Amino acid sequence: MIVVMKVDSGQKEIDDILKRLAEEGLTGHLSKGMERTVIGVVGQAYPELRDMLELLPGVAEVIPITKPYKLSSREFQPQDTVIKVGDLAIGGEELVVIAGPCAVESEEQVLETARAVKAAGANILRGGAFKPSTSPYGFRGLGEEGLKILAQAREETGLPIITEVLGPKEVDLVLRYADILQVGARNMQNFVLLDEVGKANKPVMLKRGMSATIQEWLLSAEYILSQGNRQLMLCERGIRTFETYTRNTMDVSAIPIIEKVSHLPIIADPSHSTGKWYLVAPLALAAVAAGADGLMIEVHPSPDHALKDGAQSLTFDNFQRLMAQLVGVVASLGRKMAGGTNG
Ligand code: PEP
Ligand code: MN
Repeated sequence: MIVVMKVDSGQKEIDDILKRLAEEGLTGHLSKGMERTVIGVVGQAYPELRDMLELLPGVAEVIPITKPYKLSSREFQPQDTVIKVGDLAIGGEELVVIAGPCAVESEEQVLETARAVKAAGANILRGGAFKPSTSPYGFRGLGEEGLKILAQAREETGLPIITEVLGPKEVDLVLRYADILQVGARNMQNFVLLDEVGKANKPVMLKRGMSATIQEWLLSAEYILSQGNRQLMLCERGIRTFETYTRNTMDVSAIPIIEKVSHLPIIADPSHSTGKWYLVAPLALAAVAAGADGLMIEVHPSPDHALKDGAQSLTFDNFQRLMAQLVGVVASLGRKMAGGTNG
């Protein structure tokens, strides 16, 4: 349930409610919006609690949240979450583009890609240093050396970096280098990892599990939020269906659904959603038209030599072409490209 505070209520009333909730073995999560201040109540509440809370000074009303996810719901927080990364705002009016190789392979590969995607207007550099690999014989990443290469690319281009953290033990290490932590599809329900990134003081991007329902995805988001980390964005990266033509099926409808039921920013990843480079641009445009706050696109200097995901990686030229196409779609929605790109 959520406790909606009266407009003229003060900090003392809020503190008293939080204290009272703690006495009942419950946790109160505060959300201060432009229009109202609410306290989300998390834990096993008993039926009379609602009446009791409504009697407390400063309380306007107590509304039950019917959904199993609470802190990620629009009921708890009507206004959009906007995440600041340097000058960049993710989840606001502007479309944010994340681009880079699937995996960090070498210094040259990352620096070359970082320069090219920056010149084309990308806002954030991606690259995996710790790679989840379906086969133990596949490329599993350069580890810390890869993180150092990403940091070097940030130094040179000024682009913030996002990179995957594969396990709870690596969170501290990845935090030393990354601007945004990525939790991959295969780890969406790694609850120990979710708890750990929930304690971090850096933004997190949670990818949708390949067989996860929207509700399961939001419940995973809830793990991170309930640990105190509110700098969370979601990423639709395609789900498994009976179709084998594409690597996954991009659930475009998940984008407006997330927008409706949650305040969290939603990023679309047409690269992993399709597995085919020539499907990336059409699906990227569709995702933006559907309301995505950002895109994540795999780009490689030479996709046919890529150690991972070459088939779905764009060349520099194709990435630049996509950026130019995006400008028109974004403008038609009355939005802007972040960083002032005009193609
Ligand atoms: C990735 O973005 O590098 C990745 C491994 O994607 P996913 O977790 O969506 O498969
Ligand atoms: Mn990849």
